[in-house]
Amino acid sequence: MPATTIPLAHRATDLVGSVIDSSTSLLARQTHDVVRFAMGAPGDDLIPVEMFDRYLGELSPGRYGYGATEGEPELIEQVLALTHGRGVASSADRITITTGGMQGLDLAGKLFLDPGDLVIVEGPTYTNGNSTALSYGARLLEAPLDENGLVVERLEELVARAGRTPKAIYTIPTFQNPSGATLSRARRERLLDLADRWGAVIIDDDPYGMLRFEGEEVPGFAQIAPNHPLVFSVRTFSKILAPGLRVGWVDADPALRPLLINAKQAMDTCTGVPAQRMVTRFLADDHLDAHLARIARLYRTRKDAMRHSLRRHFGERVRGTDPDGGFFLWLTFAGAWAELDTRRLFEPALRHGVAFIPGPAFSATGSFANALRLCFATSSPERIEEGVVRLRRAAEEVLAGRDRTRPPRVSN
Ligand code: PMP
Repeated sequence: MPATTIPLAHRATDLVGSVIDSSTSLLARQTHDVVRFAMGAPGDDLIPVEMFDRYLGELSPGRYGYGATEGEPELIEQVLALTHGRGVASSADRITITTGGMQGLDLAGKLFLDPGDLVIVEGPTYTNGNSTALSYGARLLEAPLDENGLVVERLEELVARAGRTPKAIYTIPTFQNPSGATLSRARRERLLDLADRWGAVIIDDDPYGMLRFEGEEVPGFAQIAPNHPLVFSVRTFSKILAPGLRVGWVDADPALRPLLINAKQAMDTCTGVPAQRMVTRFLADDHLDAHLARIARLYRTRKDAMRHSLRRHFGERVRGTDPDGGFFLWLTFAGAWAELDTRRLFEPALRHGVAFIPGPAFSATGSFANALRLCFATSSPERIEEGVVRLRRAAEEVLAGRDRTRPPRVSN
């Protein structure tokens, strides 16, 4: 038979996957014990499994039928109660339930980005945010980040150098993925001004904001500028409840809702009904606040345990962030270890039984070769200690040149 060429669209060849998501299947294939610092996933022990199992058994009729594209009305009502309770003005015509936060990001790309459009992204940022923008043909402008989030003061200069204004600004303002940094109020205000000036959409991706375990709340864009038409907020229950439910929502200008519905109808028709009803029940039964208080307390313990283990086993060889919430520590090798390429470290570390995500996965420009992201949320303090010990062993092996593995290709 002659070899058949499969006629791909240009779009298909331009698609960029996710190193992070691929690590889920990679880890599933491992037969040895691996401490999981790679995925940004809540600990299995912190998911209210019994409650969800019970809810699933008690769902009302229609649970296995098609639902409304914009989401189950009862869930929209609960989402509104949740957002109002946190001082955010919203309304039912602003909310669209999505298949996780990722669908919210994809919808943003679909609605706002034409090929060649410029998108400001944080450096480092969430791999899949970059991938989504790239899959719509966007050009990424990576802007620096410090302990107060995106360095908004640098944006005008960067945009002037790019020679064109951005169509969108993709930011993870609270407990950023991967750095854990939170954008200061002053910078949020300034970013809103710039968005107004440029007519750019702020893609406000905030899955971790409700997971604060210390420090002062910082008002969100929606509190500073209620119902601002240029703010497109992407939210998810993945981090606060369970990622496998795949339930999130978008809070956006009502004029966008019919477009979101059209786009979603060509994607998945509606978000899975059973999962929406399970989330609705959890919220209606008023379990969220107690659940958040419990998991935030435990995440704080886990973060402290990870920082403590890192200090003990790496000392000055690594610099790490110290977030007030969320899931992640961002580490940069320092001193004599500053040249350590974390892409080289990945396979030896996996062999030693610990998984993490190498820094360049979070960069549009492939930067941060000597950095890595660790998720402290998934493991108990004892497992965290074990994982850090394994990481140290793997790092020593790589530095001693005993490791012969070639660095894996890390796409952005
Ligand atoms: N945005 C950020 C910043 C995330 O960290 C994640 C999950 N890792 C998502 C969006 C996607 O969330 P979901 O799993 O609900 O699709």
